[in-house]
Order: sequence, then C-alpha cells, then structure tokens
Amino acid sequence: MKIVVIGGVAGGMSAATRLRRLDESAEIVVIERGPYVSFANCGLPYYVGGLIENRDSLLLQTPQSLASRFRLDVRVNQEVTQIDRESKTVQVTRVLDGVTRSESYDILILAAGATARGVLPGHGVPVHTLRTIDDVDAITAILDAAGTGARAVVVGAGFIGLEAVENLVARGVAVTLVQRGPRPLSPLDPEMARPVLDALVDHGVDVRVNATVSDVRENQVHLDDGSIIATDLIIEASGVRPDTHLARNAGLTVGAAGGIAVDEFQRTSDPSIYAVGDAVEKVDAIDAAATLVTMAGLANRHGRTAADAIAGIAEPSVPALGTAIVGLFGLTVAMVGWSETRLVNAGRPHRVVHTHPSSHAGYYPGAEQMSMKLLIDAKTDAILGSQIVGGAGVDKRIDVIATAMAGGLTASQLSRLELAYAPQYGSAKDAVNMAGYVADNLATGAARNIQWHELADATAAGAVLVDVRSPEEFARGAIPGALNLPLDAIRDRAGELPDAPVIVHCQVGQRGHTASRLLSQLGHDVRNLDGGYRTWLAGTLSTEHEPAGTVPSISPA
Ligand SMILES: Cc1cc2nc3c(=O)[nH]c(=O)nc-3n(C[C@H](O)[C@H](O)[C@H](O)COP(=O)(O)OP(=O)(O)OC[C@H]3O[C@@H](n4cnc5c(N)ncnc54)[C@H](O)[C@@H]3O)c2cc1C
Repeated sequence: MKIVVIGGVAGGMSAATRLRRLDESAEIVVIERGPYVSFANCGLPYYVGGLIENRDSLLLQTPQSLASRFRLDVRVNQEVTQIDRESKTVQVTRVLDGVTRSESYDILILAAGATARGVLPGHGVPVHTLRTIDDVDAITAILDAAGTGARAVVVGAGFIGLEAVENLVARGVAVTLVQRGPRPLSPLDPEMARPVLDALVDHGVDVRVNATVSDVRENQVHLDDGSIIATDLIIEASGVRPDTHLARNAGLTVGAAGGIAVDEFQRTSDPSIYAVGDAVEKVDAIDAAATLVTMAGLANRHGRTAADAIAGIAEPSVPALGTAIVGLFGLTVAMVGWSETRLVNAGRPHRVVHTHPSSHAGYYPGAEQMSMKLLIDAKTDAILGSQIVGGAGVDKRIDVIATAMAGGLTASQLSRLELAYAPQYGSAKDAVNMAGYVADNLATGAARNIQWHELADATAAGAVLVDVRSPEEFARGAIPGALNLPLDAIRDRAGELPDAPVIVHCQVGQRGHTASRLLSQLGHDVRNLDGGYRTWLAGTLSTEHEPAGTVPSISPA
C-alpha cells in the first residue's frame, strides 16, 4: 500500500509516523511545500523573543532523521498542486525549479494546515505572518537591522498576536497592538479579558481596540480612526482559515464551517482520502455542530486517528472541546468549551460561577490569586465551559476541568474530585472543588446568584444592594448605591433591611454566600453577586466604552 501525505508538520507527520509504527511494509511518502518538516511552529514566537536561543532547536526532525528512524520518504520544497481522484495521482511541483510530475497513491492524507486570513499590502513596510521558520528569519533580520528603537505593529490580539507582542517586548521592540474587536482575546468574556488588557498596558504596549488598519505606506500604518503609527514591521496575526483549495478543486466536500468535512475516522467524502489538522472541521463537544479549532493537540490526535483507521484500527475521533492556553507577561489565560457570550448568543440556558481562588494555600508563601469562571448547563448541570486567568496553577485547573468535561462529569461533581494536595500545590478544598461547591449550591437551590452585567437592571427594579465587606474595604472602592453591612454585623442588623429583594456581595463571592444563606434563612429574597466586587469591577471596566446591548444580558433559565 502506498500512502501519500500532503503537509509534513503536526497532523501530517503524526499520521506518517504512526502509520509506520503500525505497518512496516507500507510505502509512505510525505510531501512538504516548505524547506522544513516537523518544525516547532508553536515555538516560533519564543525564538523571536530570544527565549529559544538556538534556531536548530525548532527543527525537531529532518527528512534524513525521518528516513532512518521511520523509513519515511520525505520530500521538502515540493508542492502538491492538484489531486486527480480518478487516477489516484497528485501533481507535485518542485518549488525551486518548477518541475512538475505526478505521484500515485492508494491512500492520500491531506494535512495542509491553515492559511492567514488576510495579509495586508505592505507599501513600504514589511508585513509578515508568524507561521514558518522563514517568517521568523525575516522578522528577526528586520528587527536586527532596525536596532535599538525598533518598532512593530501587531495586527490581531488572538493567541499568536499576544505571543508575538510578548516576545517583541522581550526583545526591546516598541509594540502597537491593533485589535478589531473591543478587547484582546475575543473568545474570553469581558470580565475575564480585563487582566489581559491590564497586562498589555502595564508592559508598555500601545493597545488600539475597535481599530482596523485602513492603509499602510512608507513606514506608517493608518488606522480607521485617523491615527497614524510609525513602524519598521507589521506582524499580521488576524487569524487563519483552513487551507481547503486542493480539496475543493478535487471536489471533496467542504463543510458549512469552512473546513474539509470528515467522518469520525478523518475520512473525507472520498474513502481513499483522509484529512487532518487545521484544514478540517471538528465536531464541537458542546453542540455537536461542525466547528473549526486550529490547535496542535487536535492535529496530532487526528493524525493518529487517520493512521489507525488506515491500518484497520477503528478508534473514532472524540469531539473537540477547544481547550487552549496562552501566557502573557506572567499572566496565564486558559479556556475550554464555550464562553458565556457564546451561550447567550446561542440562547442556551446556563448558569455561571465566578470564583477567585488561590493557586495554593494562602498561608504558604507565593500563593497567587486566579479568576475562574465555570459555565454550566442550567438543565443538566453539565459543564459547558471554563475560563481561568491568573498566574500559577491556572494550567492545572483548566486541564482538570477539560478532563472532567471529556469524562462527562457534572459541575457539581467537581466538588467531589479527590485532587492532590499539599500546601505548596493547592488547598484541601482545591480551586476546582470550590467551583464545584458553588455549582452544587446553585443546582440544589441552596444559593442563587446574579451576574455583574445583570446588577444594574436588578437594582433599577428595586433590589437593595448590600456590601458585606468591612468598612475599610468599602472605603477603598464600592459599587455605587451599595449599603455597607459587614458580614459579622449582619445577624444583628438584618432588621434594617427594607422589604425588597436583596443582593449581597463581598470581594470575591465567599462572604456574600454566607450572608445570603443567613438572610435567606431569615426570610429574605436574596441573591449573591457572583464573583463579588472583583468580578463586577473587571466587567464594568472592560465594557465601560461599549455600546449598550453588546454585553451579555440574559438571565439563566
Ligand atoms: C506561531 C504559532 C504558534 C502556535 N502555538 C500553538 C500552541 O501554543 N498550542 C496549540 O495547540 N497550537 C498552536 N499553534 C497551532 C498549531 O501549530 C496548529 O494547529 C498545527 O500546526 C496544525 O497542524 P497541521 O498539520 O494541520 O498544519 P501545519 O502544522 O501548519 O502543517 C501544514 C503543512 O502543510 C504544508 N502544505 C500546505 N499545502 C501544501 C501543499 N499543497 N503541498 C505540500 N505541502 C503543503 C505547509 O507548508 C505546512 O508546513 C500555533 C501555530 C503557530 C503558527
């Protein structure tokens, strides 16, 4: 059997090497347009920043190493330009001299990845994406030539845009970040994105939100608000789209989400052709719809799935959760599943939990506070998503939640997970357990909460807002209109409350919960402001310049 793989990086090379481990007799040809295979594209930004010092360490394999270990026939600098499904051949053009010939296959694996969504015309300013070794070579050469005082404009505040920004700053480059939307990292809900914006600003990045580039000329970037930014370089990071042109031209089915349509064994509409990685659609774990998730883990996993299927092992793909993480100036931002904004837009009834736990026991030195958000199906208690922003320990919590989602645990069941604990690693009630306790209280009706973006409407309708923090905390900053009734005094002073629905809040939600339990047992109609003052402040600051109606505003069912 002869298997031809188009694309020799994450998905393609995972498929090729797995196939070899399963089938020593197959002829496996990998065709790669670029000069390198199996390179560490996720490491590219860190080479620009100098954290990865050795360029060669980005090159994980060579055609020679893959030939000797896996007996793969790897051909670099060769581009597949056409697939002929009738004759089961592909047309291959040598990039360096344009010579074209045809290559036959029994099975074809498409792993062509994604292409940049839109690349700005340069007009006197070099514009680069940050996707290949050639890109980083060009970027570092421009920055070296510009020397001290180098300037760069990064277009797009997604994962790669933020990694580019961090590494340019590490290199001493003056960076302007241009983001079309109102905030960086658009999959984050507004209150979770606030620390990201703060981190950028604190590190001297000139952040331009709600802005698009209208023109580029003579070392200047013009924005649609009329401002002009002088620069030596533009890094285009405004997103990618699946590279489907070979598949489309060959008449393979491309789905509504814009990627190559595949079944659970990564088979396309032609049973002799498989497709994996950024070029293909995935099944969304929350609503089972076709979706695009361009992440390395899925590309590798699906490469293996395709190889297994070709070798006769029927191990179907599991739906994609969209688990992702990015670091920015010491801040860790992680997410899985759907955001609140997406749930609201889809009209899906949900509950929301915000907590602000410590990375480990507060009494042990070095604990860092994180902001954690859990999205829960209002009917089934299923976990629909999570976002976590903070320092230490964010990565482990998001992975625990992603694992719980993959295993079908409910939000309440998070409270019952037995997680490793010693003071330097966590708490006896871990951050994940705590989120589970809050979820459990909401599910059983032991607690009711209200979101930061629902507060203004509730108080306008007559609810009384009670701040149960200490007078000192209240004096440092409070929600307008709040009454200060500290938790320890509330038993004695509950009689002062008017006969109206009560919303209690503290700094992060925990004392508010105790107050809400007390007052509800005294007969009051009480809700706790979810995530407390801290979440309210982050959300309010994050949306203060946004037009009315753009902030999520539905209540859970
Ligand atoms: C800078 C950067 C940082 C990233 N960081 C992360 C991260 O931290 N975590 C994460 O999960 N993901 C990250 N990603 C995304 C991850 O790299 C991709 O999801 C993954 O590489 C996709 O694998 P793939 O095999 O589909 O495509 P790719 O790895 O992009 O490989 C596709 C290959 O196909 C070749 N090709 C295309 N067309 C042809 C053709 N016609 N003929 C021959 N060859 C062809 C291309 O040259 C390319 O080398 C990052 C990506 C970038 C660019």
